[in-house]
Amino acid sequence: MTDTTIMKTAVTPDPAPGDAAALNNPDAEGREDLIGLSREQLAGRLAAMGEKSFRAGQVWAWLYNRGIRDIDGMSNISKETRAKMKERFHISRPQVSRELTSADSTRKWLLKYRDGQEAETVYIPDDDRGAVCVSTQVGCTLTCRFCHTGTQMLVRNLSAGEIVGQFMVARDSYGEWPTPNETGRLLSNVVVMGMGEPLFNYDATVTALRILSDPEGLALSKRRITLSTSGVVPRMYDLGNDVGVNLAVSLHAATDDVRDVIMPINKKWPLKELMQACRDYPGASNARRITFEYIMLKGINDSDADARQLARLVRGIPCKFNLIPFNKWPGSDFECSDWARIERFSDILAEHGYSAPVRKPRGRDILAACGQLKSESQRERLTQLKARRAAGIDDEDHGETAAQ
Ligand code: SAH
Ligand code: SF4
Repeated sequence: MTDTTIMKTAVTPDPAPGDAAALNNPDAEGREDLIGLSREQLAGRLAAMGEKSFRAGQVWAWLYNRGIRDIDGMSNISKETRAKMKERFHISRPQVSRELTSADSTRKWLLKYRDGQEAETVYIPDDDRGAVCVSTQVGCTLTCRFCHTGTQMLVRNLSAGEIVGQFMVARDSYGEWPTPNETGRLLSNVVVMGMGEPLFNYDATVTALRILSDPEGLALSKRRITLSTSGVVPRMYDLGNDVGVNLAVSLHAATDDVRDVIMPINKKWPLKELMQACRDYPGASNARRITFEYIMLKGINDSDADARQLARLVRGIPCKFNLIPFNKWPGSDFECSDWARIERFSDILAEHGYSAPVRKPRGRDILAACGQLKSESQRERLTQLKARRAAGIDDEDHGETAAQ
């Protein structure tokens, strides 16, 4: 098997670190975005302007602790310095194309970036806390058969600023500025489980995780950040060494035979290697277990024998399961397992000593599953376009059909 069967399209490579030519999200006037620069990059940019080293800390706090969106609001910085900064920099947020709140309080944003590409972010509240689910790519180069994002051809990596910007939009929406104490936050956790494979956009994702967890900014503890991967084995080792956030692995099958079919990445990094990477993940302990995500697909991976094989497969790994009812989308090949089957599956794992709760479907009324809002809005636009054309209105399509 070659990589081309795994990858649909090549992703735009990340600019090499330190590549001076690569400006961070420049605006129409060529001014760089302050959001998404690492702390070191920000310090370097300000030093190049002749600013003392404490300036970077001040600017950082305005951006990420106060959530300021205008350089002129940085009131402890002199007018002259602000004027110089405004010549070189801007502060961006992704544009909110749509914001939807579900009857169960799940909130979802469809965000548009400078080049018109869109990605989605979801907030899933839970009692006195909640998780913001962020995307790392537009679409995904992988082709997991059950995943709607996997059918979307158009792909580009999101930059660090575009990833962090999703969490900042959520903070804007709930007014959680300045950064509240850890105990008093609605937006208490981040899960990197939206569109895309984060470990195929490694550098930007790691920079974003560092920004999110910086104690003088957004201040999310690494224990409150979970990254989900389909199993990019070499990068799992890198992630453990570089940032050490919680790890979730999309397992979805107990044997290579089944996993090869539903997740083609398994042919490149099969279960034996994946399980070893989980065993070796630094910090994995009973207090900090790896989460195995497992989608319940009727007749595919949901038998009693599958559950028992799963328990054998993960033996010795400090882990828990998250059983996910399959969220069906138009044209998908699968059905969700029956409720009784899911409960039986969960019971077998529990008998083997593994916690295996079933994830509550959330935000069904606003299509909160992975990739669905974006697809739905593309479908709506295509329908409108077809209707306009059928009516003889030959208007511009602004390139949107390319994304269908
Ligand atoms: N690419 C990463 C993270 C994004 S996908 C990964 O695969 O882990 C986030 C989670 O949503 C994964 O566990 C994925 O398997 C799951 N998922 C994808 N399509 C789904 C669907 N139709 N129903 C339920 N879960 C789905
Ligand atoms: Fe990509 Fe994850 Fe969807 Fe697979 S499940 S296609 S890796 S987003």
